Amino acid sequence: MIDYRSDTVTRPTPGMLAAMNQAVVGDDVFGEDPTVNKLEKMCAALFGMPAAVFCPSGTMTNQIAIKCHTQPGDELICDTLSHVYQYEGGGIAFNSGVSVRLVNGSRGRITADQVLESINPVDVHKPLTTLVCLENTANRGGGSCYDFNDIQLIREACSEKKLGLHLDGARLFNALVARNESPLRYGEVFDSISICLSKGLGAPVGSLLIGDTPFIQRARRIRKVFGGGMRQAGSLAAAGIYALENHIARLAIDHEHAQLIAAAWRKKSFIGDIFPVETNIVIFEVSNSYTAPQLAVKLKEHAILAIAISPKIIRMVVHLDIHELDVERTLEVIGKL
Ligand SMILES: *Cc1c(COP(=O)(O)O)cnc(C)c1O
Repeated sequence: MIDYRSDTVTRPTPGMLAAMNQAVVGDDVFGEDPTVNKLEKMCAALFGMPAAVFCPSGTMTNQIAIKCHTQPGDELICDTLSHVYQYEGGGIAFNSGVSVRLVNGSRGRITADQVLESINPVDVHKPLTTLVCLENTANRGGGSCYDFNDIQLIREACSEKKLGLHLDGARLFNALVARNESPLRYGEVFDSISICLSKGLGAPVGSLLIGDTPFIQRARRIRKVFGGGMRQAGSLAAAGIYALENHIARLAIDHEHAQLIAAAWRKKSFIGDIFPVETNIVIFEVSNSYTAPQLAVKLKEHAILAIAISPKIIRMVVHLDIHELDVERTLEVIGKL
C-alpha cells in the first residue's frame, strides 16, 4: 500500500531506530532525562526562544498553550478550519473553559484586520478576548503557508490590543522549507510555538511547546495535570533529535512529489478544483462520476490509500515513506483512471 492518508503514518528509519536505541535516558518528570533536555534546548535555540517542553502530541502542546494563555471565560480567535477548533475534541472548552471566535480566512489563514474586527469590546456582557491562534502550514487549507508580512501585521495587532499569539506549527518546517524562511523570525513574533516531530519529520511520537521561561514553567505544570509527564522519554526525544538533524531539508522532495500528483489529477475530467499545492498536501474536489469515498475505494483497489475528508473532497499527504518509485506508480494509476 502507498499510504497518502497522512504524514503521521511514517515509520522510524534504521538510522532513527539506532539513535533511539543508543539514547541515554532518565526520569523526565524529575527533569533528569539528558536526551529530552537536549531536545528541548535544541528546539528553543532553533527558534531563538528561551525554553521548550517535550510532550506526547501536538494536540497536547496546543491545549497546554491555550490553557497557559487564558482564564476560564476568555475568548480566543482562530480560523474556522483550524486544528485547535476542528480536531482537538472540543478541548478549548473542555480544558480551558474558553469560547472561540471563528474567522473565515483564506485557506486557513487569517489577516490582522480580521483579528481586529473579532476582538470583543470591553463590556461585562462579552467574553474577554485574550488570544489569537494561527496555523502554519494550514492543514485544511491544503498545506497553505502564511506570508510572513501578514504574520507581522497580526503580531502588531496583538501587541496593540494585548492579546497572546500562539502558533500551531505542526507542519511549520514544511512552511519554512517551502518559503525558505528562518525559524528565528518565527521565534521573534510568537509568544508560543507548537511543533510536531511525528508529521513530515518522521518521528514516531512527540511535539514541543516553545516560549519564554515563565511560560514554559507553567506549561510543565499543566503538562503534568493533563497526564503528559513522561518518564524515560529519552528514546522518543532521540528520534526527534534525529528527525531535526536529518529530515528537514528533505521536505522539499515531498513538496515536489505533491506537485507531480496534483498535476496528474489536473488532467482528469472528473476532478474539480484542486487547492494550490504549496507544501506536502494535495486537496481536490471530485466533480462527477465519483463521490470522494468511491474514488478512495477505487484508489485502494490499486494499493493507494487517500482520505475522503468530505463527500466531495479527497486529501493526499506526501511524506518520508513515499519514495520516488511510489510516486511514479501513483502517477500511472491516476493516468489510467
Ligand atoms: C496533526 C496536527 C496537530 C497535532 O496532532 P497530534 O496528532 O495530536 O500530534 C496539530 N495541528 C495540526 C495543524 C495538525 O495537523
